[in-house]
Amino acid sequence: MIATINPATGETVKTFDDASFDDVERAIDLAAETAKTYRSTTFAQRAEWMRATADLLEAEADDVAAMMTLEMGKTLASAKAETLKCAKGFRYYADNAETMLADEPADAEAVNASQAYTRYQPLGAVLAVMPWNFPLWQAVRFAAPALMAGNVGLLKHASNVPQSALYLADVIRRGGFPEGCFQTLLIGSGAVESVLRDPRVAAVTLTGSEPAGRSVAAIAGDEVKHTVLELGGSDPYVVMPSADIEAAVKTAVTARVQNNGQSCIAAKRFIVHTDVYDDFAAKFVEQMKALTVGDPTDPNTDVGPLATEQGRVDVEDLVVDAIAHGAEILCGGTRPDRPGWYYPPTVVAGVTPDAQMYTDEVFGPVAALYRAVDIDEALEIANATTFGLGSNAWTTDDAEIDRFIADLDAGQVFINGMTVSYPELPFGGTRRSGVGRELAAHGIREFCNAKTVWIG
Ligand code: NAP
Repeated sequence: MIATINPATGETVKTFDDASFDDVERAIDLAAETAKTYRSTTFAQRAEWMRATADLLEAEADDVAAMMTLEMGKTLASAKAETLKCAKGFRYYADNAETMLADEPADAEAVNASQAYTRYQPLGAVLAVMPWNFPLWQAVRFAAPALMAGNVGLLKHASNVPQSALYLADVIRRGGFPEGCFQTLLIGSGAVESVLRDPRVAAVTLTGSEPAGRSVAAIAGDEVKHTVLELGGSDPYVVMPSADIEAAVKTAVTARVQNNGQSCIAAKRFIVHTDVYDDFAAKFVEQMKALTVGDPTDPNTDVGPLATEQGRVDVEDLVVDAIAHGAEILCGGTRPDRPGWYYPPTVVAGVTPDAQMYTDEVFGPVAALYRAVDIDEALEIANATTFGLGSNAWTTDDAEIDRFIADLDAGQVFINGMTVSYPELPFGGTRRSGVGRELAAHGIREFCNAKTVWIG
């Protein structure tokens, strides 16, 4: 069902009809036709539309934030910050795309040419399958570079954020982009295959869970279409004795409960050197307990509800399984008796390797604490999952910093801070966390044909 269901109450606010076969057909056709002419627009023209879109997002940020909070339960403050981050993303690519995609000269003499270079050209219509957790940002992270590169987008958003999906297509249109540059398809996941197999669709990007990524990548592989995958993570957060413990604890709390605990790059496993473990654990539990859980529209709320009923069941099941395998609850762990899909900030210690939580992602405000005797053991625990998205390490020792940068098996390593996505830095994972990169120059080149030009 495609619907807005308020996670704070469990009430269905609005339902939407799935797009019909004919609707989808028309949208793909419009995308393909638009792509033929849009690719010839200038960077300056695209940048003007991007900036106009950013202006609209900034002007409408309060209403947009309320819509996202209603659809998936993030706090109003974080929803507004997300909206403004999207505006920043549009401006970043408006300012930088032309330089990022400029012809790249090669050594012409070495290849017996008078001129040789790489030219970046758009691929055409790109399908974007997106998740609900950052309803605007996840899609903008694709849309902004794709549009500046001269591609057009077809968005299949998560079924629980239809209003956010429709808004994004609308605001891009109002920013001045030609009709057909960015369209939302209100379709369920079962309808993705036929869109992806359509010859008018050139490529696909998916942000979401590993099963969804595997399914879409298999179809794209069968069609030999380029794919970018941004999948799950169970990011480690390592704390060594030389770290500023107060700062490490404070950031750890934010890193775990941001977005009500539902971020792919949230720190999920806290691996603390035994010399500072007790100090860190006591302070961390105290600060997790002190968080205010409640109505996401209340400015005093730190942690709102989980976005879906099933999401809360999945989190609860992982906690119950961890306890059954010998783990201990240091705080939280019991759902509150109130409407809505709330789950309290929870700290679990002593998770054993045979518990699911040791290797699986917990998509909710649950932190697993581990004790490590030295950096070798810390790295062993950190790398003990199949994921490799973000990673965090806290130390002031230069040799340890070098070691973490070298040996944390992840797409990103943040030292003395928490993993955050910035338009200026490439974003993506290794292993089961994904394929390819978004953001920065790497992201905009993903959906380009890097055409080799040789002139004799
Ligand atoms: P999800 O169930 O995989 O859904 C994500 C999107 O994929 C939705 O649009 C969904 O549509 C669609 N989908 C699901 N199964 C599909 C299939 N078999 N074929 C085609 N499309 C399919 O993920 P989620 O539970 O909403 O999101 C949480 C996951 O996303 C977590 O694992 C999180 O770590 C990951 N994530 C990763 C990143 C990153 O950048 N690496 C960012 C955010 C989230 P429907 O809603 O219609 O089912």
